[in-house]
Amino acid sequence: MKILVINAGSSSLKYQLIDMDTHDVLAKGLCERIGIEGSNLQHTNVAKDEKTKIEKPMKDHGDAIQMVIDALVDSEIGVIASMDEIGAVGHRVVHGAEEFADSCMITEAVMKALEKCTPLAPLHNPPNIIGIEACKKIMPNVPMVGVFDTAFHQTMPPKAFMYALPYEYYENDGIRKYGFHGTSHKYVSQKAAEFLGKDASELKIVTCHLGNGSSISAVDGGKCVDTSMGFTPLDGVPMGTRTGSMDPAVVTYLIDQKGMSAKEVDSLMNKQSGVQGVSGVSSDFRDLSAASKDGNERATLALDMFTYQVKKLIGAYAAAMGGIDAVVFTAGVGENDAATRAKIVDGLDFMGIKIDPAKNAVRGTVDISADGAAVKTLVIPTNEELMIAIDTKRLVEGN
Ligand code: ADP
Repeated sequence: MKILVINAGSSSLKYQLIDMDTHDVLAKGLCERIGIEGSNLQHTNVAKDEKTKIEKPMKDHGDAIQMVIDALVDSEIGVIASMDEIGAVGHRVVHGAEEFADSCMITEAVMKALEKCTPLAPLHNPPNIIGIEACKKIMPNVPMVGVFDTAFHQTMPPKAFMYALPYEYYENDGIRKYGFHGTSHKYVSQKAAEFLGKDASELKIVTCHLGNGSSISAVDGGKCVDTSMGFTPLDGVPMGTRTGSMDPAVVTYLIDQKGMSAKEVDSLMNKQSGVQGVSGVSSDFRDLSAASKDGNERATLALDMFTYQVKKLIGAYAAAMGGIDAVVFTAGVGENDAATRAKIVDGLDFMGIKIDPAKNAVRGTVDISADGAAVKTLVIPTNEELMIAIDTKRLVEGN
């Protein structure tokens, strides 16, 4: 079966066509500037390693999906003979709230439930929904599945997901921790179990998704029991441009004492803070490492703050699970930045976490633990698109 994976943003749409017999990506690409001047499609035929850019007006997501299908079936740049070869479509959806604890087949009832989740992700869910509607119009007979960033975290117990506000704010407004990057945490925790030759049910794992946005999860017996992102993806460790956790009274202070509007504080916390805000250098960890090596003290401070908070969460989650068998690093920083990994686990030998510097320098799916370390430290490249395709196939096959 071939599965088309769609990730629709407000003016962009990413796609991959995956062969589920081999898990090979046949084609992938991106539609940019949908609904604005300069729309274009960038398409890659993976087997031929050929990239094509097509500039053509796309007034909406419907036009974009049609262009994707045209490219996929094209006699020169395409990878399939006809649309009939697409067995199912898997859609990434950011927020599934408490409605969705697993991926699910898209039905009319599901579309209604998705609309209900929209107030919780006003920027992200509407384009996801538009992407699904557009696909349904063009491929009315192809089964569609929604895969939610929040679903994997729905197994958290109330003591982990509740905020200590008056209870009615949870009951009436759904204000609680939801967690994000769930598709990635699920994928790498399953891969870690496979890699270690164990069943996920036997393992206590801390998964560290460290990229532009970062989140850490505690996965006990294959189920998420806690995660660092919260009601929104602003919570947790400091990120590229996001604050991560801080005393919430800072928000009221900025509004009351500095005369900032709620919108300005929101933008400050999401777009001008994090390692970028502290260092004044960059949100990119490569730039930060280079500046730190050149003696930039604020770049060093930003990196120290980041690694310290990730380290603390590894300890906290080991305590929450009553033990730890493996730490997994993934995403841009987690997969590529050996120095940051080393700093995060430095000093954790007391709890059995110790890495081997030579193994830590290797790329790919690797065990970087020192010989004899009681806890395995693994680097596992994430693959959210493949996880979406795997879930889509599982649901289409009725499992
Ligand atoms: P996103 O959250 O946008 O999906 P990614 O997971 O792609 O982010 O991670 C992007 C981040 O990964 C960049 O900000 C960059 O700092 C970091 N990164 C990528 N490659 C390297 C590298 N070789 N060394 C250090 N950091 C890296």
